[in-house]
Amino acid sequence: MSIISDNLIAIRSRMKSAADRVGRQVSTIRLVAVSKTYPPAVIAEAWEAGQRVFGENRVQDALPKIQELPADAEWHFIGHLQSNKIRKALPAFTLIHGVDNPELAIQINRIAGEMGLIASVLLETNVSGEATKFGFAPDDLRQNLEGLMALPHLSVNGLMTMAPYSEDAESARPFFSALRELRDELTAKSGNPLKELSMGMSGDFEVAIEEGATIVRIGSSIFGHR
Ligand SMILES: *Cc1c(COP(=O)(O)O)cnc(C)c1O
Repeated sequence: MSIISDNLIAIRSRMKSAADRVGRQVSTIRLVAVSKTYPPAVIAEAWEAGQRVFGENRVQDALPKIQELPADAEWHFIGHLQSNKIRKALPAFTLIHGVDNPELAIQINRIAGEMGLIASVLLETNVSGEATKFGFAPDDLRQNLEGLMALPHLSVNGLMTMAPYSEDAESARPFFSALRELRDELTAKSGNPLKELSMGMSGDFEVAIEEGATIVRIGSSIFGHR
């Protein structure tokens, strides 16, 4: 057994405890193993341990890894997607977490249309209001959601956020609950369920699960410090 396999077992057990605390089924929460910066041999250890979903934040770094890992691995794009990388990203990633402005969404829709695809995306939302963070402000989302949902080659599956960095996981809770409340509000208004809430990283995923995360993105607690 490798350290990575032990880490995955520990993470899954902590995910289950967090889900149990709030009466959720852990099977409704997906773990994205964030493999950015790690080489294929290290990622393969996680695959051997049964992990199938991986997160990458640079298209050019991810493509050779995707080639090298078994074809049943699934890849999510978790970074800031540059418009000149969309065409390469779309066939490689099943979910794009960080769509953070309407222009990017419109470009993804156009290119997905040209390629005969439907792109599944999450809209990155800046619930903390930190100026350094990417993402839609909640009011921008309220204004733009209907238009984005009408794009025929875009499937808006939910929302994603990053809490401001802190040593204390509890300090992330208000941002995670704000994202859930915004999701509920937008779902009620649009009549379209925004199913996914991508929130929680190594330092705060248990709080995120307690607040309703359906996807957690965990890197360093699985693979070690970068
Ligand atoms: C790197 C990264 C993560 C994982 O962070 P860890 O603290 O290593 O778990 C999650 N989400 C995004 C968007 C990232 O860039």
